[in-house]
Amino acid sequence: MSAGVAPFERVLIAGIGLIGSSFALALRRAGVAKQIVAFDHTPDHIDEALRLGIADEAGNDPALAAGADLVVLCVPVGACGKVAAKLAPYLTDGAIVTDVGSVKQAVIRDVAPVLPPHVHFIAGHPIAGTEHSGPAAGFAELFDGRHCILTPAEGANPAAVARLQTAWEAVGSRVTIMSAEHHDRVLAITSHLPHLIAYTIVGTATDLEEHMQQEVIKYSAGGFRDFTRIAASDPVMWRDVFLNNREAVLEMLGRLHEDLGLLARAIRIGDGATLEEKFTTTRAIRRGIIAAKQA
Ligand code: NAP
Repeated sequence: MSAGVAPFERVLIAGIGLIGSSFALALRRAGVAKQIVAFDHTPDHIDEALRLGIADEAGNDPALAAGADLVVLCVPVGACGKVAAKLAPYLTDGAIVTDVGSVKQAVIRDVAPVLPPHVHFIAGHPIAGTEHSGPAAGFAELFDGRHCILTPAEGANPAAVARLQTAWEAVGSRVTIMSAEHHDRVLAITSHLPHLIAYTIVGTATDLEEHMQQEVIKYSAGGFRDFTRIAASDPVMWRDVFLNNREAVLEMLGRLHEDLGLLARAIRIGDGATLEEKFTTTRAIRRGIIAAKQA
C-alpha cells in the first residue's frame, strides 16, 4: 500500500480502455482502492476487464456508480458529458469525480453542469499513453514518472483536490495544477499538433502511387516510422480532441505554417545558416526531454 494514502472504498472507472484499465491496475498495485468497478458500453471490454482481473465488477449499468468515492471518466472527450449525465443520479455524497481527457475546457463545459452539487468535480489529464486502445492495452506502469495535470475550477474543494492528487501520486505520477485554458494551449503544441502532423504525413504517403508506398514501408526507418506509430492512435479519441480544442490547435497550426514557410524559403535560397541554427536549437530540446526522463 502507498505510504500514508487512505484507500478509496470503491473506484468507478467509466470507459475501461487503455487509460482506464492502466489507472485501475496502477491503483491496485499501489493498494489504494478496496474495490474497482468498470462501466463501459462495449460487452467485450466488460468481459475482458473481468477476465484480466482489472475490475472486481463490470457492466453497462450506471447504477454501478452507487457508493463510489472516486469516479474517473476515461471515455473519449466527446463522450464525457453524456457518460457523466448517465452516472449523475447514482453519485454518492462527497464523491470525487474526475476525468482523464486530453482536452480540459470542453470536458469541464460538458461535465460540470450535469453533475449534482454534492460531488466534487476536478478535471485531470495524465500525460502518458500509447497508440493502443482497449482494456488489454493497459498496464500498471503507464503513469510511472509521468506528469499528470489537474485543472480544478476556482473555488474547488481543496481537500478533494489534495485527495485526488494523492491518488495520482500513488500510481506514480507527478502532479501539476494549472488552468484548463493554459492546459489546452500547452497540449495543442506538445501533443495535438504533432498528432495532426503525423496523421497528415502518413495520409500523404498513402495517397502516393502503389510502388512508392512499398518504398515508403521499405525505407520507413528514415524517420517515417516514428510518424506511423503516432498516426496509429485511436481515431475516435483523436477526432474528439481536434473537435474540442479547435481554437488552440488552429492557432498553433497557423504558427507552424509561418515557420514552415521560413524553412521552405531558407531551402529555396540556399540559406544553410538558418537551417543549421534551427536544427541546433531543436536538438537541444530533445536533449532536454531526455534529461528530464520524459523521452
Ligand atoms: P480507449 O482505449 O478507446 O478507451 C475508451 C473506453 O471507453 C473504451 O472501452 C470505449 O469503448 C469506452 N467508451 C467510449 N464511449 C463510451 C460511452 N459513451 N459509454 C461507455 N463507454 C464508452 O481510449 P483511451 O486511449 O483509454 O482514452 C480515453 C481517454 O483518455 C480519452 O478522453 C483520451 O483523450 C484520454 N487520454 C488518452 C491518452 C492516450 O494516449 N491514449 C493519453 C492521455 C489521455 P469502445 O472503444 O468500444 O467505444
